[in-house]
Amino acid sequence: MAETRSFQAEVSRLLDIVAHSLYSDKKVFLRELISNASDACDRRRYLALTEPALGAADGKYRVVLKPDPAAKTLSVIDNGIGMSEIELIENLGTIARSGTSAFLKGLGQDSKRDMTLIGQFGVGFYSAFMVADKVEVVSLKAGESQAHRWESDGKGSFTVSPVDASEVGTRITLYLKEEEKDYMLAPRLKHVVKTYADHIALPILLEEDGKEETLNSASALWTRPKNEVTAEQAKEFYHTVAHAFDDPWLTLHYKAEGVIEYTSMLFVPGAKPFDLFDPARKHSVRLYVRRVFVTDDCAELVPAYLRFLKGVVDSEDLPLNISRETLQASPLIAKIRQGVTKRVLGELAKKAADAQADYAKFWDNFGAVLKEGLYEDFEQREALLSLARFRSTAAEGLVSLEDYVGRMKPGQTAIYTITADSPEAALRSPQLEGFRAKGVEVLLLTDPVDEFWLPMVAKYKEHEFRSVTRGGADLSAIEGPAKDGQKPAEPPAPAGTAELVALLKLTLADAVKDVRSTDRLTESAVCLVADEGDMDMHLARLLKQHKQ
Ligand code: ADP
Ligand code: MG
Repeated sequence: MAETRSFQAEVSRLLDIVAHSLYSDKKVFLRELISNASDACDRRRYLALTEPALGAADGKYRVVLKPDPAAKTLSVIDNGIGMSEIELIENLGTIARSGTSAFLKGLGQDSKRDMTLIGQFGVGFYSAFMVADKVEVVSLKAGESQAHRWESDGKGSFTVSPVDASEVGTRITLYLKEEEKDYMLAPRLKHVVKTYADHIALPILLEEDGKEETLNSASALWTRPKNEVTAEQAKEFYHTVAHAFDDPWLTLHYKAEGVIEYTSMLFVPGAKPFDLFDPARKHSVRLYVRRVFVTDDCAELVPAYLRFLKGVVDSEDLPLNISRETLQASPLIAKIRQGVTKRVLGELAKKAADAQADYAKFWDNFGAVLKEGLYEDFEQREALLSLARFRSTAAEGLVSLEDYVGRMKPGQTAIYTITADSPEAALRSPQLEGFRAKGVEVLLLTDPVDEFWLPMVAKYKEHEFRSVTRGGADLSAIEGPAKDGQKPAEPPAPAGTAELVALLKLTLADAVKDVRSTDRLTESAVCLVADEGDMDMHLARLLKQHKQ
């Protein structure tokens, strides 16, 4: 019997947004449904490698679009892996992604900004409710004998009931809204498939009057020669694999030949995903083996500091029927990871050199993630250091370490840094006064990750990183601005300084470790610094905030 269930609160909120059409472009619903159908086929094909009885009888997988003008419906039918009763309830009634609830709370009703945000989030299956006022899903899971029907009007609840069906796979039927009836028309469907789903590797068929017509090229986009893939096709492919609506900032399509062979089509998103720093977030690079989808959950395929990458890697060398566990530990995967990392960093370096303004956009989105590589990946440390960009006291925009070193003052050996929550906060710091007076540039580090790589990396080329908030940041060896070609004489410590220091030490007693006179201040009378070897003050504050 049909059992009525409520959607998880997050789903209801999402459906509400969908119903109020935050998406300007409704036809994306078809892309979402086709990509789900194609994923389901990929999974069944993979399952059949180890359990042939569970595969399609003829070994062929496909997605069929079937309009029914009499019923005013459009069905999307696949012979993929199908869903059990529990899977129907869980997959089509909840959102498993962590951070969802916080994300949705942060959204307002219908501003433009929200639209791009929700676009990155991807509403997937629920986008069906943009064009339909009722959706029915009938599914039979491979290996099971009982099929189930899921049905909902997208208004808070859905029902699930057993139903007769003997074909393994899923049929999604959309009862089209009055104003969306065009999605029953062949020209419309053809157009949408061509623009949104041509890269899908399975045939997508239109079934009309008992006849079937293939609508797409049905060859995996990444296997086509690079010069035959248009930017538009690559973009649509990116939208599908990444569940994204933005334009890719970088597309990297190449075939690696030699010791290991693989093809990859990778993207750096143009917009920052909302969950970039969610600890549960994984990269979204899908692993294929000789055109067969294997997994989208191979953590070892891409280093964590490149987790913003999206796309596919298709290996020629891996065995197909390999378990996930073996996969994670496979030396071939490690080789592919190395190869991918090198390529991606190489492309980034090119962009950094040839398109600085564009590179700055990338850096604003993903720089903080890339910097994790500075302490995680020793092998790429030099490459990452030269890709790193910083705010600085000497320039408006972003500067590289190379820029910094080129501007160092005579006598200066270290790269001076200050860590703070924001560039503004850093600039207000009295510790900068002496550096300003001598015209010595200081890098303003404002990402929490900076506290972690700085002590690990310690040096760029032969130049030590030195925090201006530490006792050891000594300016006396650096020449100040020369007047009339003459070195200005160091002003002698004003009389009475020693007595003042002694008095302060006595008064402050155990509250401070030491009191010293300094040349780093020119306007302020005093400032706090951390001793060389002690924890940096900003880090100490960060940890205190997190009650560590
Ligand atoms: P996503 O595809 O990002 O996981 P969706 O909302 O598009 O999110 O789909 C939710 C889940 O429902 C999928 O992960 C999948 O498990 C399941 N699903 C959706 N459509 C199908 C289908 N045609 N066949 C099998 N499972 C499906
Ligand atoms: Mg989906």
